[in-house]
Amino acid sequence: SQNARLSALQENVDRPGRNIDWPTIGDRNLYPSEVFGLDVFDRKALANALPKPVYQRFTKQVQGRQQLDRQTADAVAHAARVWAMNKGATHFTHWFQPQTGTTAEKHDSFLTLKSQIVSGQEEIYAIDAFSGGQLLQSEPDASSFPNGGIRSTFEARGYTIWDTVSPMFIRRGPHGTAVLYIPSCFISYNGEALDEKTILLRSSEVLSNAAVKLLQTLGDNETKRVTTTLGCEQEFFLIDRALYNLRPDLKITGRTLIGVPPPKHQQLEDHYFGQIPSRVLACIAEAEYELARIGVPVKTRHNEVAPNQFEVAPIFEEASIAVDHNLATMEVLHQVAHRHKLKVLFHEKPFKGVNGSGKHANWSMQTDSGDNLLDPSSTPETNYRFLLVLVAILDAVYKHSGLLRSSIASSSNEHRLGANEAPPAIVSAFLGDHLSEVLNAIEEKRPIADFSQPHLQTVSVGGTQLDLKISTMPPISRDLTDRNRTSPFAFTGNKFEYRAVGSKQSPSFPVVLLNSAVSKSLTLVNEALVKAKGTKALPSEEDILSVIRQFTISSKKIRFEANGYSEDWVKEAEKRGLPNIKSCPEAFKQLLIPASRELLISQGILSESELTSRYHILIEKYAKDLLIEANTLHSLVTNGVLPASFAYRKELADSINSQKNVSVDAIPEKKVLNVLTRFSIELQEADEKLEALITKIEGLHEEAQAVACGKELTAAMEEVREKSDILEKKVADKYWPFPKYTELLF
Ligand code: ADP
Ligand code: MG
Repeated sequence: SQNARLSALQENVDRPGRNIDWPTIGDRNLYPSEVFGLDVFDRKALANALPKPVYQRFTKQVQGRQQLDRQTADAVAHAARVWAMNKGATHFTHWFQPQTGTTAEKHDSFLTLKSQIVSGQEEIYAIDAFSGGQLLQSEPDASSFPNGGIRSTFEARGYTIWDTVSPMFIRRGPHGTAVLYIPSCFISYNGEALDEKTILLRSSEVLSNAAVKLLQTLGDNETKRVTTTLGCEQEFFLIDRALYNLRPDLKITGRTLIGVPPPKHQQLEDHYFGQIPSRVLACIAEAEYELARIGVPVKTRHNEVAPNQFEVAPIFEEASIAVDHNLATMEVLHQVAHRHKLKVLFHEKPFKGVNGSGKHANWSMQTDSGDNLLDPSSTPETNYRFLLVLVAILDAVYKHSGLLRSSIASSSNEHRLGANEAPPAIVSAFLGDHLSEVLNAIEEKRPIADFSQPHLQTVSVGGTQLDLKISTMPPISRDLTDRNRTSPFAFTGNKFEYRAVGSKQSPSFPVVLLNSAVSKSLTLVNEALVKAKGTKALPSEEDILSVIRQFTISSKKIRFEANGYSEDWVKEAEKRGLPNIKSCPEAFKQLLIPASRELLISQGILSESELTSRYHILIEKYAKDLLIEANTLHSLVTNGVLPASFAYRKELADSINSQKNVSVDAIPEKKVLNVLTRFSIELQEADEKLEALITKIEGLHEEAQAVACGKELTAAMEEVREKSDILEKKVADKYWPFPKYTELLF
């Protein structure tokens, strides 16, 4: 094992960089815009391939969110196949998102056998075919995907259905393979959602309807649709593959279960935004190239805070497509890293004591004419619209902060939430000085301090009520300066940034719950506005301000501007009655409380059975993940750590013995041997306790299992780790079988 570790380290050092060939035309590289979408069957490709009336029918049906008729589907399928085969594709697949956090696919060849009777003889011949039926719907053998009891009670099968809003594309694999990908929903025989996409589409639809109604009340009769926009900043680690291969914990659980964290401040502070190491740059660039081809608009890349930690971020898109693209980004990075002999880690906390990874979900809403509803920088008139939308969001987050917490709960994100370097388990909203002042002034019925002045003007409130007219409403500038990195949900200029989302998880469910809560609050804001305006055609400024005021006051407790990592905030939040949900099982329960049920079921986002099945899947997955971790830790200790300690003890004992032969008392060796003996025994005992606990927990039923995993199992694992980490420091380096943090990270 010693040799394995050394040669892995050597391999890492000697590894030649992998050259990537950016395509050229003449003597220049292709422009990013020329690469973008090369392998996407987009509107342009469709318009080129279809007769005009068919193309128009297709567009109309997609925009109207209708099911495609059979004839149109046949024509689109034919066109897609010809396009894909000309680009080398041999297979197609419905690409869907079961509730596993990743995607699933099953490839089918275009190959079709036909038979013909020629002079009494059957002749078989081969053609390539792809029908509208195959495009629209497929039936994967889906019995082993998580379903939380939905399908077993009805029908064993699930169906995948093309999400026509998300275009088909070609994914290229090793050895020239190319497959036509069809982004799909995954539903049960009875139409229940078994996946992450279906409910996202539903929630976006519900949000759109609620927003359009509010805009109508404000006199906007043009807007027919409001889309949810999403841009996911993705953080990850890249480490050498040879070293990774010697860490069974990383391989099985995605994180290190043992390992001495680097001493504080050892982390190179200058890594952040520093130069990207060339091997990593080559890897990310190749991934970006592949992503660009399939239409993922990756825009930025940079180093993150921790050593070997990086981030890529795309240009934002409609939420359901942004989710597809985030999942594709993770998959492509995973595959490309392999080619560079690197391993990408998406886990939220692969290394104890080292900055964790998140997925900042930047979220907003946009009208069909391209107006961002969270863009405050325009005229005072639209600032009313902006403020109404803003207070609706605050109301939503305030009323459903516990529910929102459930969507970001997982055994892996648990290491991040509440830990001292990431959003705490309390969900609060940050607005920045300027917006806070605007809302405070409206609440207190006083003029808004002018932020164009270098420092905040204080305004005396007095007893008189001031009417805030359009003339007194200052333009709200896009304020990017005051960023509170500690807020889990922060307004950042023209969007909210949901930072508590885990790096490894699909961003879909967090967005679903956010959409659901916001659509409900938009409806409430609209109702209040309709009531305030009475019989008038349009609400007056006073009407609008009164509604903004009403919701500002009722949601005030969710606003928090100071340091979210401080102990004071925990106390303050408790005083305010904000939920501080530390454990996952508790967080999952939030899905089932009456307010959540009402929110999700009455708006048609999840049915009763979809909701309970989701709860069960989450609980089960949580317990399973932790039991896998515990078992992995147990085997690391028994097969790696203890044997290393024993080997070193033997060497020491032999040395002590041979010194005795020459009448020397081996004092220093004995000292070390005693220390090793003590901690080996303590580790053994902790490990035995862990083993017994695993057996006990495995015998419990679902919910009790999850609770026991969260409370007892994690504590027992921590104890084992503590002892193992002491031994890592005591055992001679040459005996240690696992690459150490310093080797993995520096
Ligand atoms: P930052 O300073 O946080 O990097 P950026 O403007 O670069 O800010 O945005 C970060 C992410 O937010 C990007 O993925 C970007 O596309 C996304 N984003 C920007 N505007 C919006 C919006 N209106 N809706 C959703 N996401 C957005
Ligand atoms: Mg950001």
